[in-house]
Amino acid sequence: MASLKRFEGKVAVVTASTQGIGFSIAERLGLEGASVVISSRRQKNVDEAAEALRKKGIEVLGLVCHVLNAEQRKNLIEKTVEKYGKIDVLVSNAAVNPSVSTILETKESVLDKLWEINVKAAILLLKDAAPHLKKGGSIVLISSIAGYQPDSGLAMYGVTKTALLGLTKALAAEMAPEIRVNCVAPGFVPTHFSDFLTSNESIVSASQANNKNGLLERTLLKRLGTTNDMAAATAFLASDDASYVTGETIIVSGGMQSRL
Ligand code: NAP
Repeated sequence: MASLKRFEGKVAVVTASTQGIGFSIAERLGLEGASVVISSRRQKNVDEAAEALRKKGIEVLGLVCHVLNAEQRKNLIEKTVEKYGKIDVLVSNAAVNPSVSTILETKESVLDKLWEINVKAAILLLKDAAPHLKKGGSIVLISSIAGYQPDSGLAMYGVTKTALLGLTKALAAEMAPEIRVNCVAPGFVPTHFSDFLTSNESIVSASQANNKNGLLERTLLKRLGTTNDMAAATAFLASDDASYVTGETIIVSGGMQSRL
């Protein structure tokens, strides 16, 4: 999987990285030589994920960081710099989809939570990290195919993911030429996060296209994505192989309809 060693001597921070896509991204960057800093809300998950990565020979620091918690965000950056002295790569991967309601039926508290976790927390973490990002460093935001196609059940979540496409462009301009900022928009990947698409009756009845078979049919490659597919695209954007790429989003969706 990772015979390349594009991240030797580099330090990579990946949020929400104790399972799923975030874990695979941390694993991929680590196998390619990075020291990786993983985090999530629960200590137990952090410990288990850190152990799993160490067993693969990866240098890893594991910290608890709920991305909404200002102290924990600050601690994530401070402990990283204390241990490794710098940050080369930051992957902002945390997100929630707490409601399957239509947008107009979504409670204000849920609208706030979606905005705060999926968009605002990423900005606040970057504010903390920016002074420590090395020249030549790279940021990757994790958006979603739902940012292009905000289907029912994913609609408001999708809109927050659309915001990340704009955020990518805006930050790329703001942080150039020292730092590159790019984005990965995953298609459908079976993880804990996406379980609800196949198990929640209201989603299935609201949009037949959003059950597992419907999703498969919407891909050209006739398969769902894997967390490793997302890690490979993220590693490319984070690496010097993408040294002339900034402000871009790569859609990794097996060809699901997105844009021309
Ligand atoms: P996942 O497998 O459910 O993993 C979520 C990870 O995030 C866990 O490590 C969890 O650990 C952590 N986490 C959850 N809330 C957090 C918070 N507030 N602060 C910090 N960590 C938190 O999810 P996933 O499917 O890999 O999703 C990762 C990203 O990919 C998200 O941005 C999602 O929107 C995007 N995405 C996923 C799909 C898909 O089909 N799976 C498609 C498009 C985009 P703890 O429980 O310990 O916090």
